[in-house]
Amino acid sequence: MRYLIVSDLHANLEALQAVLARSAGAFDRALCCGDLVGYGADPNPVCDWVRLNCAVVVRGNHDRASTGQDDLEWFNPVARNAAIWTQQDLSPENTAYITGLPRGPVTVEAFQIFHGSPFDEDEYVIGAGEADQAFGYLETPVAFFGHTHVQGGFIWNHSRVETILRPPARSDSRSMRIDPDCAYMINPGSTGQPRDGDPRAAYAIYHTEAKEVTYHRVTYDVASAQRKIRAAGLPPILADRLSAGR
Ligand code: ZN
Repeated sequence: MRYLIVSDLHANLEALQAVLARSAGAFDRALCCGDLVGYGADPNPVCDWVRLNCAVVVRGNHDRASTGQDDLEWFNPVARNAAIWTQQDLSPENTAYITGLPRGPVTVEAFQIFHGSPFDEDEYVIGAGEADQAFGYLETPVAFFGHTHVQGGFIWNHSRVETILRPPARSDSRSMRIDPDCAYMINPGSTGQPRDGDPRAAYAIYHTEAKEVTYHRVTYDVASAQRKIRAAGLPPILADRLSAGR
């Protein structure tokens, strides 16, 4: 089975469309590690695509916040503003869909997906120390997660934690063989709001028979996504940061 794995779409339709154009024909099932909405100006079209096309989806913190399931006091003012805007924009159908999304981890075949970490959906697994702790909670040797908006992730290699490199700026993909003696926490990166210094939309393909994960980056119409964010009256920083990938 070939899985398309996306995370942190954040209502960025242009980025999602670029990912789908590039990955067309390259996957059998699509999965999403959460944060469908929040920040971007197209929550309904992005949610429609996920609802119709993703076989398994876990919720993210912005999904809870944008459907009234969370106390917004935990959010910074920009994220809170975007969550309130999204609550008002989402159709009743999409609000109901997002409200019903499960908390991760969810097991798919022989791997897991979750938003933040296997023991706390809101935990940021940023460095090797956090990953070391998280690996202790994995129930499968391979897992996919998001939340940090940083493509890559971590390998547990005979008690040592190694950081996985994302594709370099001059390349649009990087493949990695899955070693049966290791464990993997794989971050496909953020499709809709990358924060790893590369503004290109991120995703990953997991080919289970070939035991291979390929990280991808694809350019998209950033200017169009930015125009819509500004026109919607969302905080301008949410448009600005897309060009920097920060
Ligand atoms: Zn996110």
